[in-house]
Amino acid sequence: MSNIVERIFPDHLPTPEELAQRFPKRDLPEGAMVTRVGPSPTGFMHIGTLYVGRLCAQFARQTGGVSILRIEDTDKKREVEGAVDFITHAFDHFGVSFDEGVGVDGADMGAYGPYRQSQRKEIYQAYVKHLLATGKAYPCFATGEELEAMRDKQQLRKMRTGYYGVWAEWRDRPEEDVQAALDAGIPFVIRFRSEGKIERKLKFEDLLFGERKLPENDQDIVIMKADGLPTYHFAHVVDDHLMGTTHVIRGDEWLSSVPTHLQLFEALEWETPKFAHIAPINKMDGTSRRKLSKRKDPEASVGYFEELGYSNEAVLDYLMTLADAGFEDWSNENPGTSSWEFPLTMRGLKGSSGPLFDFEKLGNISRNFVATLKSPAVYDRVLPWAEKHDADLADMLKADPDRARAIIAIERDEAQNVRKDIEKWSDVKAELEFFFDDRFTLSADEARGMIDYLDANELATLVSEFLEGYDPADDNATWFGKIKELGGAHGFAMRPKDFKKNPDDYKGTVAHVARVFRILLAGKERTPDLYSIMQVMGPDQVKARVSLVL
Ligand code: GLU
Repeated sequence: MSNIVERIFPDHLPTPEELAQRFPKRDLPEGAMVTRVGPSPTGFMHIGTLYVGRLCAQFARQTGGVSILRIEDTDKKREVEGAVDFITHAFDHFGVSFDEGVGVDGADMGAYGPYRQSQRKEIYQAYVKHLLATGKAYPCFATGEELEAMRDKQQLRKMRTGYYGVWAEWRDRPEEDVQAALDAGIPFVIRFRSEGKIERKLKFEDLLFGERKLPENDQDIVIMKADGLPTYHFAHVVDDHLMGTTHVIRGDEWLSSVPTHLQLFEALEWETPKFAHIAPINKMDGTSRRKLSKRKDPEASVGYFEELGYSNEAVLDYLMTLADAGFEDWSNENPGTSSWEFPLTMRGLKGSSGPLFDFEKLGNISRNFVATLKSPAVYDRVLPWAEKHDADLADMLKADPDRARAIIAIERDEAQNVRKDIEKWSDVKAELEFFFDDRFTLSADEARGMIDYLDANELATLVSEFLEGYDPADDNATWFGKIKELGGAHGFAMRPKDFKKNPDDYKGTVAHVARVFRILLAGKERTPDLYSIMQVMGPDQVKARVSLVL
């Protein structure tokens, strides 16, 4: 076999000894966790990837360990241009940073790289070569058609499909056959020679799923593909060994592969890391629960939250509520403390397995978060978002920045009860839009139609009298006193209880009077404080707006 090993792998590859030196054991304090997240650059980033990445970063941070962002790009067919950038920027956007891995500028950070698997080809091959040399792996020249025919046969005979046992045709092939296939230039893969028995159970401990007993793996899985790159299984084992990963935190779709992975660790005589398989984020679909689907659910994509303009803190905090049911209490007890300070534990994580995605909750968290920001901070966050996603809103913000900030400041900067109407940056548009005359389209007829408790004459009289008494210098109380009086003089109840008692005697309450001006000034039912709106508008705009119905 040694001829074959040399034929397949020329000797420029590093040796396992050299690699052991190049990737020394990390010198970390007791209990430090080395974690990694390994997204693949497919152009789509699942919210679950942000979730797992966040958990990895948090565990590493709070134990004085190391978090790694590793780009798992061994499947060149699925790779999309710009996808690595997309991933690093998405993590960066949401404020999740890693100690090592591919950075936002595309460069590697850390001494255990390269951190893109495609750049580690020689490293994997060094170990493939080693396994080949020690008889634990072999080349397989079976073609796609042959494998398909094998599967058909297995299905026909109602047998387990796959490359195992008697089906593993190249497993013990005489050397001449292998040499001949190499001579003929037939493409080949390298398979692991499994010693596993399907009828034997393997026991292992998952930190979240607890003790598991799964059948051993008896498939001679591919470890190196025809293009010379490793498969996921092999790359995972090699990288997590060399990078010193202590905790493999990943989606639970890999749980069933653990027996295969343990087998590979053993074959290479490496210690196994701990495993924590994360149940996927679910959602309710009608009355049933299912995992977020990339195809059906826009919220499965990280980009969606950025596009709508959720603040990164809100999204991250929300993910933390999904991760640990204790987070919310902690967060209420520690207002203003960053969620990165939350003591995340495997126990907590275990308790909230398969969490449900809930937009309403995200909305609440988000509105509460935005309410902690003053108007300049809101402005500074909305503008860059708008420049990317809504040029029209960006124009509004830039037309008169001070005025835009003043609008945002209403019921915010000085308020005791800060308004909580902004959930995402896209909501700011509605706050600003009606202040701009060229965007305000309310017609006199529409206004009259909305104010149906006054006829056109009554409305015009009410407005003229308002204008007579209007003094922009009035303070809030004086202004409101005038509104009340105006109402009293025009058949509205001065006190709500009078109206309640004899509703037929009145046109409405003071709220109905205020509503007249809300409609005329803003064209809508709900606005922040009317007095503040008028202050920002200034007398000319106020007069022009209310005069619409004269
Ligand atoms: N590249 C793998 C995936 O996309 C990562 C799994 C892991 O973390 O090991 O699912």
